[in-house]
Amino acid sequence: MTAPTLPVTEVFVALGSNLGDGHAHCDAAIEALRGVCAEGTELRESSRILTQAVVPEERADERQPDYLNAVVQLHTCLEPLELLDVLQDIERQRGRQREGVPRWSARPLDLDLLLYGDLCLESPRLTVPHPLMTERAFVLQPLAELAPHRVLPHTGRRVVDTLEALP
Ligand code: ATP
Ligand code: MG
Ligand code: MG
Repeated sequence: MTAPTLPVTEVFVALGSNLGDGHAHCDAAIEALRGVCAEGTELRESSRILTQAVVPEERADERQPDYLNAVVQLHTCLEPLELLDVLQDIERQRGRQREGVPRWSARPLDLDLLLYGDLCLESPRLTVPHPLMTERAFVLQPLAELAPHRVLPHTGRRVVDTLEALP
C-alpha cells in the first residue's frame, strides 16, 4: 500500500535584512527553505532590492541601515503554523532576537509569510495574507516579479494592480 500524499500548497515568503551580511542571510534562508519544499518542486526567488527602512513616526529620527528585500515562492506540505515555526527558527539561526526588542528594529533577517495558498486566517500567532503586504512596495515589487497575475485572496485584486495602486 502506498502512503497517502499530503496536500501541497503554494506559498510566498518575504525576506528582509538590514543588519550584517544581507545576502548571506538571504542565501541561508533560501537554502533552509529548499528543505521544506515538496518533493519534485522548485523554489523560485525574486531579484533582491535595496529599500529604505520604514520606522514608526514617533521614532522618525532613528537611523536604520537600508533593507535587502526579496520574495520567494515555494510549494510545501507543511501546515501554516509548522511553516511559521520553520521561518522563526531560520530567523533565530541568523541571530534574530525578539525579546526586549522594539517592533521594527533593525534585524539580520525577517521572514514573513505573505500567502499560504488562498487561505485567509487570523490567529494569535499568524495572520495570512500578511496584513501589511498590500501597503508595501518592498513586498509587492518582488512579488510581482514572481507572480504578477496572482489574485490576493483577501482583496480579490491582482498583485500587479495592487502595486500600481500604491501612492
Ligand atoms: P511586520 O509584521 O509589520 O512585517 P515584523 O515582521 O517586524 O513586522 P515580527 O517581529 O517579525 O514582525 O513578528 C511579530 C509576530 O508576528 C510574530 O511573533 C508572528 O507570530 C506574528 N505573525 C503574524 N502573522 C505573521 C505572518 N504572516 N508572517 C510572519 N509572522 C507573523
Ligand atoms: Mg516584517
Ligand atoms: Mg516578521
